[in-house]
Amino acid sequence: MKNKQFIVGPVELYQETRDVYQKDFTYFRTPEFGEIVKSSLKKLGQLIGNTCPNSMIYLTASGTAGMEAVVENCTNKNDKCLVINGGTFGRRFCELLEYHNIKFSSIDLEWNEPLTKMHLEKYTNKGYTMLFVNLHETSTGQLYDIEMLSNFAKENNLLLVVDAISTFLADNYDMNKYGIDITIISSQKGLCLSPGISFVSFSTRMLEKIKNNAIPASMYFDFKDYLKNIERGQTPYTPAVCIMYELQDMLELIEKEGGIEARLDFIKAKCEYFRKKAAEIGFKIPDYPLSNMLTPIIFEDISAYDVIQVLKDKYNIFVNPCGGKLADVLLRVSHIGNTSIADIDDLIEKMQLAIKEVKEAQCVKQ
Ligand SMILES: *Cc1c(COP(=O)(O)O)cnc(C)c1O
Repeated sequence: MKNKQFIVGPVELYQETRDVYQKDFTYFRTPEFGEIVKSSLKKLGQLIGNTCPNSMIYLTASGTAGMEAVVENCTNKNDKCLVINGGTFGRRFCELLEYHNIKFSSIDLEWNEPLTKMHLEKYTNKGYTMLFVNLHETSTGQLYDIEMLSNFAKENNLLLVVDAISTFLADNYDMNKYGIDITIISSQKGLCLSPGISFVSFSTRMLEKIKNNAIPASMYFDFKDYLKNIERGQTPYTPAVCIMYELQDMLELIEKEGGIEARLDFIKAKCEYFRKKAAEIGFKIPDYPLSNMLTPIIFEDISAYDVIQVLKDKYNIFVNPCGGKLADVLLRVSHIGNTSIADIDDLIEKMQLAIKEVKEAQCVKQ
């Protein structure tokens, strides 16, 4: 039986992406490869709403490295940062800032607590300089209100850093429109590529700050070096060449299929189909705002974790568990990757069977 993946990433690859490996790859230190990189980053910039030339770099490393490199290169000892901490990824920004000795406060949310204006107001006019947010907190599925965050950042003159890793190519996103200073995305989520590359895009004022900042603690992640090299479509060190070919192909595929709107519509259609079916059979979905990337389902009488195990062991279907105290309470179904409406029908059917099985096992135990 073939694996079916409804996980947040690395997602199931499209056949087109797998076929890229049949092509010849060019040596990366050639102008030809540089042109491929420049053209791809330009297109990617258009998709995230930042069309300034040479304003995006890429790192051969997973998304967390993008987050850490941003902390190292884009903050300094004079900064006072504010972090929206609504789960695993918000906490990661806190951990990174602490690790690098940068002053910060965090707005800590309960897992089912929506972020509101009231949370932010407490921090008005308190000398903060930067706001860090994982726009879609993938660990709970909460999608924060970018307009609210953007207004707050503007009113308080904060540099706005957005980890858009799990919202990009699932929900609308526009760096320019919302005055976002940094966007971090990575290859294995909405872009549906192999894991291993993160992309970081900068506003003009952030580029200026990087230029004036001291050299970061890590030589490998020195953004000044990446920014200089990217003018020729190059990187200081060997990149994941194969993933850049996957990217080139994926950007062409998105164009061919009708552009970003068509891609977003497709994800939305899968998401709405799943949620409608889920509601029909009585699945409980949280009532905080959600991304189209992901649907969390709440379990009250049986363990979500047990259901996930049955889906995996018996049906080769993978959905995401949650960590820590949410392990038994939530499971998460992703709507990105190479999955179809027919796959969702199958998933719903197998979820019902798995739930039945877990319930029966529980009766026997009692
Ligand atoms: C997946 C993800 C990351 C990156 O995690 P890596 O395992 O380092 O790739 C960061 N932020 C969010 C919100 C994510 O969903």
